[in-house]
Amino acid sequence: MHPLPHDLPRSNAELFARSCAVIPGGVNSSIRAFKAVGGTPYIVERAEGPYVFDVEGTRYIDLVQSYGAIILGHAHPVVTAAITTAAAGGTSYGAPTPGELLLAEEISSRVPSCERVRLMNSGTEATSTAVRLARGFTGRDRIVIFHGNFHGATDALLAAGGSGVATLGLPGTAGVPASAVASTMVVPYNVVPQLDEQVAAVFVEPVAANMGVVAPAPGFLEGLRAECDRVGALLVFDEVITGFRLGTGGAQEMCGVSADLTTFGKVIGGGLPIGCVGGRRDIMETLSPLGPVFHAGTLAGNPLATAAGRAALGELTPAAYELLRGRAGRLSAVLTEACAAAGLPANFPVVGTLVGMYFGAALGDGVAPTNFAEAKTTDEAVYRSFFHAMLAEGVALAPGAYEALFVGLGHTDDVIDAIGAAAARAALAVVSSAAAATHAAG
Ligand SMILES: *Cc1c(COP(=O)(O)O)cnc(C)c1O
Repeated sequence: MHPLPHDLPRSNAELFARSCAVIPGGVNSSIRAFKAVGGTPYIVERAEGPYVFDVEGTRYIDLVQSYGAIILGHAHPVVTAAITTAAAGGTSYGAPTPGELLLAEEISSRVPSCERVRLMNSGTEATSTAVRLARGFTGRDRIVIFHGNFHGATDALLAAGGSGVATLGLPGTAGVPASAVASTMVVPYNVVPQLDEQVAAVFVEPVAANMGVVAPAPGFLEGLRAECDRVGALLVFDEVITGFRLGTGGAQEMCGVSADLTTFGKVIGGGLPIGCVGGRRDIMETLSPLGPVFHAGTLAGNPLATAAGRAALGELTPAAYELLRGRAGRLSAVLTEACAAAGLPANFPVVGTLVGMYFGAALGDGVAPTNFAEAKTTDEAVYRSFFHAMLAEGVALAPGAYEALFVGLGHTDDVIDAIGAAAARAALAVVSSAAAATHAAG
């Protein structure tokens, strides 16, 4: 089942060093390198339900869950069977398939604003296609995004924003030319910006889940909808995390606001690579081959990914979301209690099935952040310390202070209570090591 060579060293450190000699930084997605928390990543050999197992045989309760791509728990038997069956029939054809049709119908029927959907291979491909489509449909160039929202590795959406003020055209990373973001405006989250008729689209995470977890303020999404309508701009919900995680109809169902275009990824692939743009028929039919906006993909609508996605969505009944909401609440409660008992100021806000995590005096008083500037006041040093203390207790958090905690159907109440017990010991360890450091410094 695991065709690793017999002579492969069973050592995280050795394998990571070997990876670093052939893969830049040893990873294929930056955060996995542990740069934000220090130390050497655990190298995962396999996973099951709420657990991942590293090559050394250590078991961790996993709250990463592939950053939200996994919602039923790892290696869910229904998903595994769907992938196995699909693989036996061939893995890609370059022709239409019934599987892609069925997944598209499933998405469209659950999210009514998605009258048409186009499948592709990643959330990044979905957001970059949505940028092109919005510009092609409106004939305008300007894109508005929110500080602290993340839309994948799409040049036009990798713009930097200063905190608090609107900024235009600053590249968010090396390699993005100023020209690629010259038409991208970055504004503060949870404030409805005033738009003009140059704006093609406003991209927003309707619940922000890449700066911890930040809820939309009452009226924010409604206000965006009205402002977009006023100037004829498209409202694009990036639901790559929230889609089919917050509930059957994603964030737009929860908030009662419809988007013109919606991007999906993560959950809809059942753990396989996928992305999707859905939206209003007239906009979507501007895509090739019907319209002038080009899109193509060799593996788009891939039979394995669509089979896995259909299997996952099939398990996500209203009862499953009810269960998930309960578990998110329980996770937040046990973590809050553990930190409070240790005297460690912390805050674990819950939005639907998503749980955020912030540390430090500024956010430890139960007041959840409402934008990136506030989220950034989390104590990153405490997070580093808590992360490693939890890992030592057998609980894997994301190796970065701004990721959501992903609770899934694999996290039974017993597992969540075990996380709470681990957190109680970890929080005490964080507090006593901070005290020791203060003592040594004094
Ligand atoms: C993960 C993510 C993306 C990018 O998706 P990939 O599949 O990693 O390319 C885009 N938007 C949001 C909100 C995400 O969380």
